[in-house]
Amino acid sequence: MYDVRFYKGNYSWRQKQANRDRCAAYVEHHFNATSSTKSGYSVVVVGYNCSETSKRWGRWYANQIGKEFKVPVAGKGGILIGGYNGRGNGNLKRTNMPAILLEPLFVSNPQHASWVRSTDGQEKLAKVLADSIIGFFPDGSRIGFSVGHKYKTNRPRDRGAAVHGGGAEADYAEIVMEKTKHILESYDPAKSAPVQDEEKDDKPDNDIRVIKDGKELWLHTEADDDDDIIWDEQNRILHITTR
Ligand SMILES: [Zn+2]
Repeated sequence: MYDVRFYKGNYSWRQKQANRDRCAAYVEHHFNATSSTKSGYSVVVVGYNCSETSKRWGRWYANQIGKEFKVPVAGKGGILIGGYNGRGNGNLKRTNMPAILLEPLFVSNPQHASWVRSTDGQEKLAKVLADSIIGFFPDGSRIGFSVGHKYKTNRPRDRGAAVHGGGAEADYAEIVMEKTKHILESYDPAKSAPVQDEEKDDKPDNDIRVIKDGKELWLHTEADDDDDIIWDEQNRILHITTR
């Protein structure tokens, strides 16, 4: 009932192809990395313009990884809206369907890297991703997969970050996605009823923030979807009007 397609080429092209194929969902798989061997958390990037489904799906995935691997969850409840100061947004912003960019573990962290390189760890990662898709897109249909870094037309040799102990980010992301594709394409809903956390979406998620040089200066949490939020460019005033 699932038909998983891998999209290749530059990121904008992949998204356009997924739109053309009317994918029900789109996933790009990465692993995180820093110069420190200590960093180690789970997070998901969603686009600035993403749907509530993307946010709920991303949070569920990031938190489930946190539980399975016992690692902290970063971002806002597990998600970074618009990526790291915009990085990651372009990988998702052209999609017409719910779309998430996964950064489940750090390949610069020796413990995380050993999970990523082990069959056990890869299967765990694949199961969490497959469960998230089955939970959020129970009607099946076509799912678009994108391996981060790999198969880009403009930089064909890019494989992302080096993995502690050997190998490259993109090659392991691809292994996990291939395993996920196998789980999804052999999935029989009659045989298994996955337990999906019914996350109540009653928490407002409309914070307005002022960020200068990456530092939060001001936070307003009481905005509602029905409020008018208007930036007066001429006078440089943000008007928040409750309706
Ligand atoms: Zn990456």
